[in-house]
Amino acid sequence: MIVILLGSPGSGKGTQSKRLADRYGFQHLATGDIFRAEIAQKTAIGVKAQDYLKNGKLVPDSIVIEMVAGKIETGGNYLLDGFPRTIEQAQGLAEMLKRVGASVDLVVFLTLPKEEAIRRMTSRRTCSNCGEVFNAISRPTTVDGVCDKCSGKVAQREDDSEATAVKRLMVFEDLTHPLVAYYKSEAAFQEVDASKSPETVEAALSAVIDSAKASR
Ligand code: AMP
Repeated sequence: MIVILLGSPGSGKGTQSKRLADRYGFQHLATGDIFRAEIAQKTAIGVKAQDYLKNGKLVPDSIVIEMVAGKIETGGNYLLDGFPRTIEQAQGLAEMLKRVGASVDLVVFLTLPKEEAIRRMTSRRTCSNCGEVFNAISRPTTVDGVCDKCSGKVAQREDDSEATAVKRLMVFEDLTHPLVAYYKSEAAFQEVDASKSPETVEAALSAVIDSAKASR
């Protein structure tokens, strides 16, 4: 089964994807996480991508599509988080899925007002070692700056600064939001209100996934 979680930066895609991957056994494919790992390891893809991430811009479609294509295998169950982010990427995804005899089964759009997305992004704190996400307001670390899970360094992501967060939301509106109209006509499409608590959002997402599974 192929599920896409669509949503603006800060809408909780990462948090919810991890929960759903655990619950349903999906492989969680998060392009932002992959880029951050590639950058940390100074790989060729990381070197190409780093300035885009730093400046809140999208990495060029050709790089993203090639990177994801290498990770999709026949018969896999994938939860796509942060991909596709443009119409061109959605078309690239359709082609790569066709090659492995699959197609998109469900697209869920996490809706969130812009002001709340900015508030969430700017208060987000991330472990540079294991990627665990904290929040300076709603989920602080027990010891300031130290990850509760792995004792790694927890700090604000460079692209979660207010100026870059605002820019990322503009990029989302321009390039990613058109996917809502695209998928409404192409695949099973649902919306979930992401402004609720993580538990409520997870329950709503699970209900949508359960019903998509039942109708397959
Ligand atoms: P995220 O962790 O999903 O918020 O992504 C962080 C950053 O990684 C984005 O602001 C982009 O610079 C880059 N990125 C992640 N996924 C994509 C994608 N599908 N297309 C282009 N750039 C991406």
